[in-house]
Amino acid sequence: MKRMTAEIPQETIQAEQESMARVREMDGRPASYFIVTYGCQMNVHDSESLEGMLQQMGLTGAADRTCADFVIFNTCCVRDNAERRALGNVTWLKELKKTNPQLRVAVCGCMIQEPGMAEQILRTYPFVDLAFGTHNLYHFPTLFEQMLIRQRRVIEVVPDDLGSVPEDLPIVRSNPYQAYITIMYGCNNFCSYCIVPSVRGRERSRESSRILAEAEALRRDGVREIMLLGQNVNSYGLDREDGMRFPQLLEAIDKVGIERIRFMTSHPKDLSTDLMDVMAAGSHICPQLHLPVQHGNNRILKSMNRRYTREQYLEKVAMLRERIPNISLSTDVIVAYPGETEAEFEDTCSLVEQVRYDSAFTFIYSPRTGTPAAIMPDQIDPETASRRIQQLIAIQKQITAENFAKYVGQVHHVLVDAPSRRDPSQMSGKNEYNITVNFDGSPDMIGQILPIRITEAKETTLKGTLVEDSHD
Ligand code: SF4
Repeated sequence: MKRMTAEIPQETIQAEQESMARVREMDGRPASYFIVTYGCQMNVHDSESLEGMLQQMGLTGAADRTCADFVIFNTCCVRDNAERRALGNVTWLKELKKTNPQLRVAVCGCMIQEPGMAEQILRTYPFVDLAFGTHNLYHFPTLFEQMLIRQRRVIEVVPDDLGSVPEDLPIVRSNPYQAYITIMYGCNNFCSYCIVPSVRGRERSRESSRILAEAEALRRDGVREIMLLGQNVNSYGLDREDGMRFPQLLEAIDKVGIERIRFMTSHPKDLSTDLMDVMAAGSHICPQLHLPVQHGNNRILKSMNRRYTREQYLEKVAMLRERIPNISLSTDVIVAYPGETEAEFEDTCSLVEQVRYDSAFTFIYSPRTGTPAAIMPDQIDPETASRRIQQLIAIQKQITAENFAKYVGQVHHVLVDAPSRRDPSQMSGKNEYNITVNFDGSPDMIGQILPIRITEAKETTLKGTLVEDSHD
């Protein structure tokens, strides 16, 4: 039976707000926090909610984890190394706790939602005071309060059986000019290598009027760029009865008038021509798309349960370019998937050469317990995997250099973000293609969208100069 999405009841959210008010007044509660975030934008956005709740409870952000009273790790489990890095850092805090017994440590996010992980935390990490999964993030104030009142560990992992989405959580945005809007949670696709559906649950879309109201509020707040988030934004609305699907939602958000709109992630199988038409006709939708291909060989794509072929993917790329000739494409690619032969790997290389992405996130396949691919025979040995990824990186590097060289001489519009990390006399921001551009500027330009003539292509960024006599 098709499951319909509902909002978490208002009384539940009200109870969380009461919890926050009580913690705020509590004697001896932690005074400062530090959040360590791993993984994707979804996690970054969840951390903004955690920060909003912590601030409502009266805590202030610490400059560093070593001087915070409360440290929370918002974890990712998509790849084994992300998980090991998070656990390594949690362990490191054990030492810190010896010198500061008042320190409280929490772990939340996707890793906790993995089967068996909460038990492992209980057993192996006795210094962790609080742990909770992805489905009860909104419940954090109550859990935090319980941890403080009872003076004992609190661990709560709930299964995805609610089919509900949280609304009205407090939030602290890390950037006043750019914001994330989650439009849906979870994923129904079950790609054979991916653990996300088990830890983030089934697809739940937010009500469109809520999303539009949020976009409107952000515009009034001076936000100039939004990123719509979801594990598979293209299936937005399939779990709701109001008939609003992603193309219509995007069209409506475009009319709100925020200067730049981006979205991710798009599953290629669900990328419709309707959506491409909306992207092409929109006034504010950036000519940029992250379209994860994962592999270039049909046998592997089938085994991955991606439900498109190489040919279908390439056809969609062609249709996109027909409508938006300057579109900048990026992708995710997995090498060394179980059983991948040399010829199959070469298919990935040839697809990358054919599409000519501006950038590609390349990964060595990482087995995740509980996924079908993890128990497939013929796992690829590390040397072969490493050789293949190096080969693919070299191909993509060459393509990026050639693509970026074509940008030299063009005027791009850059939303100025911050001084460049490498050279503070330079300002840095993203152009419409989501590529970092550095140029000579000053901090008073932060938050403006400025025309920058591209003068030089670097390995992963562009350099340019401000076009004078221009107005934002
Ligand atoms: S679409 Fe596939 S890769 Fe993406 S989150 Fe869903 S299952 Fe994972």
